[in-house]
Amino acid sequence: MTTRCGYCGENVDKRQGTHVHDPKICSACKRELPTAEFPRWPSSADGRRHQCRTCVRGELDAQKVKRAENRERSRQWRNEWFRKNGYTWVVRTPDGRYVTPLEAEHELDQKEQNAQGYNWE
Ligand SMILES: [Zn+2]
Ligand SMILES: [Zn+2]
Repeated sequence: MTTRCGYCGENVDKRQGTHVHDPKICSACKRELPTAEFPRWPSSADGRRHQCRTCVRGELDAQKVKRAENRERSRQWRNEWFRKNGYTWVVRTPDGRYVTPLEAEHELDQKEQNAQGYNWE
C-alpha cells in the first residue's frame, strides 16, 4: 500500500518509515519553512499539510467569519420577527442586567472567542 505524496509526487510506503520534507514550500504562500510550521495531517504521505500554519489559520478564520455572518443574519431575522409580532424579550445576565437576546449572544460570543485559542499540536 503506497500513498502518493501530494508534495513531491512520489509513491510513498508509509510502513517503510517516515517521508519528511524539511524544509518544505507552502503551497499557498510559497515560502520555504521548516516542517514544524506545517500542521500535522495524518492522511498525507509526509504526515503534514502542504499549507503552513499561517495559511491554514487564515483559511479557518475566513470560515469562522462566514459562519458568524450567517448566524448574525438568522439572529436579526428572528429578532425582527419577534418585534413585528409585538413580542419583546429580555434576558437577565448573571450580573443582573437586562439585555436583548442579541446583546446576550454577542457577549457570549465574545467570551467564547476570548477563551478559545488555536491548538495545533
Ligand atoms: Zn514527498
Ligand atoms: Zn503558507
